[in-house]
Amino acid sequence: MSYASIITAHDRTAADELARLRSAFDEADAILIGAGAGLSTAAGFTYSGPRFERTFSPWRERYGFTDMYSGGFYPYPTLQDFWGYWCKSILANRYECGVGAVYRTLVDLVADRDAFVLTTNVDHQFQLSGADHARLFYTQGDYSLFQCSKPCRPVTYDNEEQVRAMASALDEKIARQKAAGVPARLLDLSVPAELVPRCPHCGRPLTTNLRIDDTFVEDEGWHAASARYHAWLDSHETGRVLYLELGVGGNTPGIIKYPFWQRAARNPAATYACVNLGEAYAPAQIAGRAIVLDADCAAVVDALAGTR
Ligand SMILES: [Zn+2]
Repeated sequence: MSYASIITAHDRTAADELARLRSAFDEADAILIGAGAGLSTAAGFTYSGPRFERTFSPWRERYGFTDMYSGGFYPYPTLQDFWGYWCKSILANRYECGVGAVYRTLVDLVADRDAFVLTTNVDHQFQLSGADHARLFYTQGDYSLFQCSKPCRPVTYDNEEQVRAMASALDEKIARQKAAGVPARLLDLSVPAELVPRCPHCGRPLTTNLRIDDTFVEDEGWHAASARYHAWLDSHETGRVLYLELGVGGNTPGIIKYPFWQRAARNPAATYACVNLGEAYAPAQIAGRAIVLDADCAAVVDALAGTR
């Protein structure tokens, strides 16, 4: 199938599209949710602005970046500096951010439906919202996990204890420097060498379990979730399946967007819905069964739940 021709939200009216989504949602035999970064943005977990500033103003002063994506890819001078940034980022985006309302609403909304969630988000929000683990596949990793940097074996490690230990040591170090009058741009933002996490098997440094390159570890849990996801797909080739895409951008369309288009095209009873603020579109080939909503994911999920 070629994607040369698309329809966008400009071709439709939002009220019509929302009404069509309501019907499709109510009438669906099964719902596959594809969740991308826009869903976490709608939950309030932005990577820039006040949320960045609250924790990372010393990093802005020192390195010049102004958002957490850039902070995650910055080439830090040492491993201790790498972990100085990452322990605070994992703490802020995984252990101390609470649960986004839109995630809770969405999980409740499909609790008694034949639904499965596929997500590229790594912030653990579906798990925190009580989503059924057997119906959840997070393909790109999770902030809660470390892996060997080589990696020497396909396993991951829960990281909360190490993250909190690094962050609290760093907080104390920063407080000591501020008390001594060290200017913000000269602050030492590195964690103590003895806290740098090491692989328990080979002694190499651990790193985040996030799909950044081909060293990403797909552990036993990942493979089990992948198998359950593909089994769910296999058992839903036909029938009224709603492919509900929420906040999926253009970075990795091969994971959610293109497979959703292809599956919707193959099944004449399926509906494809693209909800995305600023980037809502669908292939013209399935225009009659496509819903395109240029809207905030939280507003749409709330509308489906009847809470607004
Ligand atoms: Zn190792």
